[in-house]
Amino acid sequence: MTKQLKISNILAIAAVCLLAFLAYALFQDLDDPVLTLTPDTGRASLALPLTLTVTDATSPVRRISVNVRLGSRLIPLLDKTFQDEAKSRRETFSLKSTGLKDGAVELEIAAVDASLGNFGRGNASRRTIPLVIDSIPPAITIKTPPPNVRRGGSGCILYSVSKAVSQTGIKAGDLFFPAFRQASGDYICFFAFPYYLQIRDFTPQLVAVDLAGNTRIDPLPVARLSRDFKSDTLTLSQNFLSHKKAEFSTVVPGEMSDIERFLQINSRIRRENARALMEIGKDTASDASWKGSFLRLPRAASKAGFADFRTYLWQGEKVDEQFHLGLDLASVAQAPVPAANSGRVVFAGYLGIYGNIVVIDHGLGLQSLYSHLSSYSVTAGQAVSRGDIIGATGATGMAAGDHLHFGILVSGLEVTPLEWLDAHWIHDNITERVRTAGGSLPDVSGE
Ligand SMILES: [Zn+2]
Repeated sequence: MTKQLKISNILAIAAVCLLAFLAYALFQDLDDPVLTLTPDTGRASLALPLTLTVTDATSPVRRISVNVRLGSRLIPLLDKTFQDEAKSRRETFSLKSTGLKDGAVELEIAAVDASLGNFGRGNASRRTIPLVIDSIPPAITIKTPPPNVRRGGSGCILYSVSKAVSQTGIKAGDLFFPAFRQASGDYICFFAFPYYLQIRDFTPQLVAVDLAGNTRIDPLPVARLSRDFKSDTLTLSQNFLSHKKAEFSTVVPGEMSDIERFLQINSRIRRENARALMEIGKDTASDASWKGSFLRLPRAASKAGFADFRTYLWQGEKVDEQFHLGLDLASVAQAPVPAANSGRVVFAGYLGIYGNIVVIDHGLGLQSLYSHLSSYSVTAGQAVSRGDIIGATGATGMAAGDHLHFGILVSGLEVTPLEWLDAHWIHDNITERVRTAGGSLPDVSGE
C-alpha cells in the first residue's frame, strides 16, 4: 500500500515537472536573435557601409552592439538599446571612426532580445567575424587596343584586374555594361556608344569595385566616331488606327480616342518596353554562344534602318517623334524567321510596340530580337542554333504591314544590327582584337 502510494507520488511529481517544462518550452522564447552582416566578404575599406540586420522570431530586439577587436584592443562602433516592440532591426555603420590601418581585425557583433530566456536576461547571440581592412583599390590593365566605336554601335575590350572584384564593367552616361570573367581570369566587356548621345557626351569609364568596397574608375580610351541617322516622316491614317484598334485596346485599355491611344503606346509603352528589354538583358550567359556572323532574314528588303528619327504626323500636324531602333526587313507574308545565331531564348511573348517578340541571348550581354511576329515556336529557356526557325513574320504591335523588325542589344541597349550582320566588322573589331590580347571568342574569319 505505502510502496504503491510512493510510486504514484513519484509519477505525479514527474508529470507536474514535465507539464511545467512543456509550458516553459511552449510559452518561453527559445529563439536567439539572428545576426546578418551585409556585405559579408571578409574585407572592408574604412568607408564601406556595413549593415547589421538582427531578426528575432518571437521577441523584440533590446540591444545591439558592434566592436572591433585588434589584439587586446577593443574599439566600440555601435551600442544601442531599444524599448519598442520591433523584432527586426537594421543598423548601418562603417569602420571610419577607428582610423585603423590596413590589416586583419575581428568584428564582434552581439544582440539581446526582450524574452525571459537565459534566466530573465534575454536570449543573446554573438558572432565574431574576421575582417581584413583594405584601402587599396584594384588596378585595371586593358589588354586590347582602344576600340573604334561609332555612334549607335558596339565595342569590346579585354582587361585584367589586380584583385578579386564584386562588380566591374563600363559605365557610359546612366548605363552600365557589365564585364564577364573568362576562364583565363581576364574580363571581357561588350559596350555601346548609345545612339542618343553626341560624341562630346560619350565619355565611357571603366569601373572595378573590390570586395572591400574600394572603387577604381578609369577613363576608357576609345576612338569615338560619328554616324548620322536618317530622318523620316510617318503620316498616320485613320485607316491604320481603326485597323489596330482592337489590338491596341488590349495594350492600353480605357475610353479614349484612337490617336490618343496610339500616342500612349508610342511614347509611354515604348519607354516601358525599353526598360523591360534592359531587365531581359541581365539574363545573359557569361560565355559567348554565337558562331560566325549573324544571319539576316533571307530574301528580304530593308525597309527602315537603325535609329531613323521619325516624325509622326496626324491630320497634318506633328504629334510625336521617336527613334526607330532596329532593321525592318520585308519578305513574303509570314516568312519563316531564322535565329540569327546560336543561344538561348530569354523571352518569347507579347511586348507592347514589339507585338509578338522573341529575344535570344548569345552571352556576354549580347542578344538579338525578332518582333511583329505573326507566330513563334520557341519558349523561354530553350536553346536554339543559328538558322533554326523560331517563328514567322507578321504585323503585331506597332507595325502596319508584314515585316520582321530585327534588333541587336548589348546589355539591354539597342545597337545597330548592321555591324553584327557583317563578318568582317566582327572579325576586325571584336574577335581579332580579343584574340591578339590573349582572349578567345568564336571565330568568324572562316565565313
Ligand atoms: Zn521596325
